[in-house]
Amino acid sequence: LLVETGHPYTVHIGQHAIGLLSDRYRELLAQADRVVIIADSRVAELHLDKLLSELEEYHPLVFQVPAGEQAKSAASFMECHSFLLAENCSRNTVILAFGGGAVGDLAGFVASTFMRGVPFIQVPTTILAHDSAVGGKTAINHPLGKNMIGTFYQPQAVIYDSSFFDTLPDKEVRSGMAEVIKHAFISNEQWLEELLAIEDFGAMSESELSLHLEKGISVKAAIVEEDEFEGGVRKFLNFGHTLAHAIEAFLGYGKLTHGEAVVLGMAYALELSDSNRLNDFLKWAKDNGYPLGLLLELPFEALLPYMKKDKKSTAAALNFVLLGSIGRPYVEKVEEHQAQSAFNQLRITIK
Ligand code: NAD
Ligand code: ZN
Repeated sequence: LLVETGHPYTVHIGQHAIGLLSDRYRELLAQADRVVIIADSRVAELHLDKLLSELEEYHPLVFQVPAGEQAKSAASFMECHSFLLAENCSRNTVILAFGGGAVGDLAGFVASTFMRGVPFIQVPTTILAHDSAVGGKTAINHPLGKNMIGTFYQPQAVIYDSSFFDTLPDKEVRSGMAEVIKHAFISNEQWLEELLAIEDFGAMSESELSLHLEKGISVKAAIVEEDEFEGGVRKFLNFGHTLAHAIEAFLGYGKLTHGEAVVLGMAYALELSDSNRLNDFLKWAKDNGYPLGLLLELPFEALLPYMKKDKKSTAAALNFVLLGSIGRPYVEKVEEHQAQSAFNQLRITIK
């Protein structure tokens, strides 16, 4: 899969994709003075040996960062730079990100800032990373807001090996599949129907999952190619995210996975859109263990200020990505009373 942004790169996906590192990317790695793996510590514990055995001839250095979101701190950003400097890395160093979206965002930001930018390769290990590893957004968090410090910086390649998914906890599978179905909602009705028919993620075969991820990546890639710096259609990727971000901020990050929150947000966006797919979507969400019941407990008034502050909303207006029909997203300003009554209506439907 080719992603044709200003700087085009390929996403390789499949069961033995990491074999391509010392095949397709031999030249890039061989000319580097250092190859540095920035690895999520949990992922390193589970899978680093496999990656190292692929990279043996390049004698990679490994720097481990805290697992998950903790990696995206200013402290670990500085620690990465300290490591690179202590190891005499230069502009000819190549960085590999090994882990989920969190380490991908951190390592991408480190790569984009070290010596004003060194090449990097994403080696994602989560389902959600089909989203985060494509599109070139990098970031760390500021105590005042998530993803507030970052750059647009495209990788040299994304090597997406599905054999790493075996060890993913269920909630991380749910999180990733939420973004997959989001990509279907905003692009393709037939694909959406296939996804809605899944009653148990655990029963998906490896090849079935890879196919869905490939489709998701092409949707994201097509949008990013058209709108690399988020002036227009890239906003559609925010389907379900206005409420999701509000829930995450209100509950405190990490209480729910991002995708779990996005599923609640998509249910709400479907209600606001008056979509005839809401009931099927709610059934799918329930079958697959998403915490829909939370919608009955969350106070709308408390979420509202967060929704107004959403990056994609202007000033104090409420903006949502809604669906005309499947594959036809648009951005719409919603009045507060309308937002409130849709929320109530959704609760009644869920009960
Ligand atoms: P994550 O990177 O936090 O990983 C989730 C958890 O799973 C972590 O505890 C990690 O240690 C563990 N893990 C990862 N791979 C594993 C594996 N194969 N087996 C077992 N455990 C594994 O989460 P994520 O959902 O991949 O990414 C979320 C991050 O991505 C957020 O920080 C979000 O802001 C970011 N994101 C970025 C973009 C973008 O465009 N840059 C888009 C979406 C999300
Ligand atoms: Zn998302």
